[in-house]
Amino acid sequence: MNADCLFCKILAGEIPANRIYEDEFCIGFPDINPQAPTHLLLVPKEHIASQAKALAEHKPLLGHLMATAADLARTQKLDKGYRVVVNTGDDGGQTVHHLHLHLLGGRPMGWPPG
Ligand code: 5GP
Repeated sequence: MNADCLFCKILAGEIPANRIYEDEFCIGFPDINPQAPTHLLLVPKEHIASQAKALAEHKPLLGHLMATAADLARTQKLDKGYRVVVNTGDDGGQTVHHLHLHLLGGRPMGWPPG
């Protein structure tokens, strides 16, 4: 728990979020500013500031997050496809400094991303 971290506050229940998914390692909830008809955030319970700070010991957790994103995409019926995004650092557009996956779907995605 990082006292200054928005997602740690959500994990602690200090800021409300509609947890549509939770397990031992992570929670999933809708993004407050959705960029697609389905836009969920998948947030590990452990505070890791970004993908760039992930260590070898985090590999199982990173794999769990990816597999859980696939499970969530199935339960959200994103059968036509979806995008998983991990914004990392300033150039990556990261605004909340607690590692998280965006799961976006429900519309065709453009490429390259902005
Ligand atoms: P990032 O820009 O770090 O990749 O993603 C952070 C995401 O968190 C943004 O898409 C933003 O809309 C979302 N967000 C910021 N504050 C809140 C909040 O209080 N609740 C929820 N559900 N999402 C938030």
